[in-house]
Parts: sequence; structure tokens; C-alpha cells
Amino acid sequence: MTAAESPPFAQKPVSSASLESLFRELFPGRRFLVASNREPYEHLWSEEVGEVRVRMPPGGLTSALDPLLQALGGTWVAWGSGEADASVVDDSDSVRVPPDDPRYTLRRIWLTHHDIHRYYLGFSNQFLWPLCHLRPDLTRIRARYWERYRKVNRRFAEAIVDDVRGESAAVWFQDYHLALAPAYVRERRPDLTLAHFWHIPWPPVDIFRLAPHAERLLHGLMANDLVGFQLPTFCDNFLRCAQALTNAEIDWRERSVTSGGHTCHVRALPISIDIDAFRAAASGPTAEAQMERLRQRYLPGGGLVGIGVDRLDYSKGIPEKFKALEFLWERYPEFRERVTFVQVAVPSRTDIEAYDDLTQKVDRQTREINDRFGTDRWRPIHLIKQSLPADRLAVLYRLADFCIVSSLQDGMNLVAKEYVASQVDCRGLLLLSRFTGAAEEMSDATLINPYDPEQMAVDIRDALVLPAERKVEMMNTLQGSLSTIFDWMADVFCEWGGVTQARVRPARLADEGLEDDEEIVA
Ligand code: UDP
Repeated sequence: MTAAESPPFAQKPVSSASLESLFRELFPGRRFLVASNREPYEHLWSEEVGEVRVRMPPGGLTSALDPLLQALGGTWVAWGSGEADASVVDDSDSVRVPPDDPRYTLRRIWLTHHDIHRYYLGFSNQFLWPLCHLRPDLTRIRARYWERYRKVNRRFAEAIVDDVRGESAAVWFQDYHLALAPAYVRERRPDLTLAHFWHIPWPPVDIFRLAPHAERLLHGLMANDLVGFQLPTFCDNFLRCAQALTNAEIDWRERSVTSGGHTCHVRALPISIDIDAFRAAASGPTAEAQMERLRQRYLPGGGLVGIGVDRLDYSKGIPEKFKALEFLWERYPEFRERVTFVQVAVPSRTDIEAYDDLTQKVDRQTREINDRFGTDRWRPIHLIKQSLPADRLAVLYRLADFCIVSSLQDGMNLVAKEYVASQVDCRGLLLLSRFTGAAEEMSDATLINPYDPEQMAVDIRDALVLPAERKVEMMNTLQGSLSTIFDWMADVFCEWGGVTQARVRPARLADEGLEDDEEIVA
């Protein structure tokens, strides 16, 4: 049965337990390590003097990988960002987590003020992020950012190598903060198997070649056995960059790149969400009562409510979305006092000027639109500038008659998937930017072009007046197209296991003095 034919939410059930057996089968004898910038648990000082409390920072990926690590029992290497993190670690900067029932090791990397400024806010978020989101005009190139990015990546690599010691391991790197770490690990431990998932877009070569360190970054990633991207286009872009900017050999049929005798395979592995968690939160025992309270707050006079959930990031197209709503209320006055829009806008990277400018712009637009169209009993836009926990978001998603995702460029966009998963009543509409990874899988959404706000207003109007049965039909199809984050992990493991076995097998045959087609008799 294909995903499109499956009944909603009835996809192959993959759990952390089945992922554990899959890992053991594909990577026999290897320990599991994950490396990411963000950590899954932060220790903070509590109100009581000297007492420490633990918090799971918000973020779909950390909460999805945590059960996997709990099942596999390996090590997670990440930046120790909590104010009390250092007070609970051992001599190797490690602490066992989860605190109540320790199952795996969290090994912390300490970042100084300069590290945060240069490696994180600098090279990662003022160079790689805008470059990969096709905004070279917003990149800031500084030698000190690059130097610190290298140093911090090396620190991650050293911690990994130290943690593995004499054992065999499979190391999974996450995202753009750690592009160089795989090469540093490979230098010291050629026998380890390494994979990387690049969560954001990979730009075309004409953009990527602007990076002064393009070749170094590519070589950093090519040290992996597998690099995963959200879309086939990003894989093609990466391979083209490797072809144009390094001396590597590309095998287009195999989708691999070989340099210095090492082959790295490149695959499209679109990420998803924990469908069951969102569905459960949206239909929990208090959900109806919460929805009623939200209706009273946002729709005291009745009508429809739309929602947007984004970090305050220039890639998300929030001003473009507000412009479209302005056109909607201007040109179709029948929607005034009938359509209310709630925008969750989570402050993000606030030390960076481009983010500060965006925040001011969004505040200004909200004020202007509310002044222009608002009445005594109706506020067109409610701007919530804080991060909400996933269970509250799920209820808001369920309540919303429509959701607008207007990213100008987005690797995937998990909000689109979370909205669909939380639509337990199946009556909501998803208006989804064509420039998200999610749009490739969710063709039954109403696809929009955020660069054209006038047309977006027309698209919103047309979608809102669709017959109820058509909306249900569309939502059903969207739900059928969703797969879970556990399927994604299983897909990553299968691809990674396949390329690892292909690399290890010839080496093992050679060690045993056999040809490639001779049987090894156990
Ligand atoms: N999110 C959250 N609380 C909020 C707003 C967003 O937990 O108040 C989460 C949201 O549920 C989603 C993630 O932040 O899992 C945003 O992911 P997305 O892929 O949409 O964008 P990103 O911020 O990673 O670029």
C-alpha cells in the first residue's frame, strides 16, 4: 500500500524498540552516538538555592531522538547550554540522562561567550544559515567566525573520539553547525561509520561558491559515509558543488562522491514528526475545554480562525503573510470581523541585526493592520511572541480553521506536518508555501507563493469558501501522506547500514584474503 492509499495515521508502526533491533542488526557491535549543537536536557538552577532542575528544551528533533537514545543507550554530544549544566557532570563532562531513569550519556561541550558569538551566532547563523536559505545579501563573512567554527567543530570531534575509545561506533551528526566535525573524526578514526543529516536547504552551486571556505566545508561533509538531505534537489545541489568546487569524483548513478579513497553517499530522506504525540495532545481530555477558552479569546463574535507558527526568522515569510492578510481584509470586506489570525512568532537569534529588524517590521505591520481594520469587538491579528509547548500548540492547531505556512525558503517545515497531524476533526485547511520541503510531499495542500501576496489573498479567499466536504477530503489526503519520525529514522538507518556494509565488506574480504565474490563461510 502506498502512503497515499493508506488510511490516515495507519502507517507502518515503527517504535523506538523496533528501531533498536534494526540498529543492532545493521550495525552489529557498534555503539551509537549522536552529535548536535542543541542538547536534549538542560540543567538549570531552581528557585531553591543550590537545587537543580531539568528542562527539555523545545524542539521536535531533540524530543524525537531522546527515546531512540534511551532505547539504544549510547552517547549524545552537545553544547552544554544550561546555566547549571557544569555542576552535574563528571570528569569527562558527562551526565547520565534522563535524570529519573538514566539510560544514556549526555556529553557536554562548553562554549565560551566568544564561541557562542562566533561559531553559533556568527558562522552558523550569519553565514551558513542565510547562504543556504538563498540570502547571500545577509551573510556576514568574518575570519574570526570561521576560525571559531573550526575550533568548536574540532572540540566536538575530540569529545566523540574520546568517548568511543577503543570501541566501534556509528556516529550521527545533525545539521549545519557541525559541517567540519566528520572530517576531524575521520582523521583519527577511519574505521567509524559516520552519517550526517543536513536539516536546511543545500543551495545551488552559484550561491554556495560564494563561501570562501566552500571546499573545506564540502570536504568536512564528504568524510561521512552518508549525508542525508530533505529533498532530491538538495542532493543534486550538493553533488554539483562537490563536482565544481573540489577534486572529488561524482558517481551520478550511485549518487555518491569519492575523494581521497573515501566514498560518501548522498540521499534524500525527508524528515517527519511524531504524529501520535501531536494527535494525542490535540485530543487529550482537556483539549475541548482549552479550545473553548481559545474561541472565547480569539473569536468572541464567531467566525474563522487562522494560525501561523514560526520562529521570527526572515526565511519564514511572516511580513509577506501579513501583507496577504491585509489584501484579504482590504479587498474582501466580508472577511472583516469573520476571519481572525493568530500568529505565534517565537523570538529567535535576537542578537543578530537582521532578526531585530524583522521583529520590528512584524510588530509595526501588526499595529498598522489592527489599527486599520480592527473594531471595538474584533482584533484582526493576535501576535503571540513567545514559545508555546507542543501540547498547547497541538490544541491551537486543532482549533484553527486554516494554517498559513509562508516560508520563502524552508528545508522541510515541521509546522505544516504538525498542523495536519493535529487536525483530529479533519476540517482545517493548509495553505503551504511552494518553497518548503513539505510542499513536495503534501500536494493536496493549497500551495501558495509568498512572493506574490495579492495572489495569496485570492488563494486564501478561495480556500476559505470551499465546501466543507472538500476540506475534509483534502485533509484526509494530507493525513494519509504523513509518515512518522520513526519511519524517517528507520529509513536513515537502512540507507546508512547499506552503505556501511558495502564499505566494510570489501575491507573484511581483503583482510581474509578473499575475492569479492567468494563466500565467507561462518
Ligand atoms: N515550536 C514550538 N513552540 C512554538 C513554536 C514552534 O515548540 O511556540 C516548534 C514547532 O512545533 C516545530 C518547530 O518549533 O516543531 C519549528 O520547526 P520548523 O521546521 O517549522 O521550523 P524551524 O524553526 O526548525 O526552522
